[in-house]
Amino acid sequence: MTTLTVLKLERAALNKAVITNTVAINEKKSKTVITCETNMANGHGCGSKFFIKNITYIQTHWYETPSGCTGGDMWHQGEGQFECPCCGLRNRLYNRESFQALKGLFKHVVDEHKD
Ligand SMILES: [Zn+2]
Repeated sequence: MTTLTVLKLERAALNKAVITNTVAINEKKSKTVITCETNMANGHGCGSKFFIKNITYIQTHWYETPSGCTGGDMWHQGEGQFECPCCGLRNRLYNRESFQALKGLFKHVVDEHKD
């Protein structure tokens, strides 16, 4: 087999893998449900369930105040949250199962910066 043939075969396999992965993600998006849950910091959840594809993911950021001559004065990425469309409760995601993988399934991601 020539190098070119090998490369073509690898590329075809890669394309197939990407398509398979995209289909899997879309399927996951259409099926994954998220629940408005109670949590210690924000209060009582209403228990409503939503398709994650219809919900906005809120990426929080927190500010580190300046310290010393060069330290701090910067933003750090915080946890992911979402607001319940039913009761308005701000839900936290850090305690959900495989929460990091959930981020890509939301309708869109908005960034929030709070001191
Ligand atoms: Zn709720």
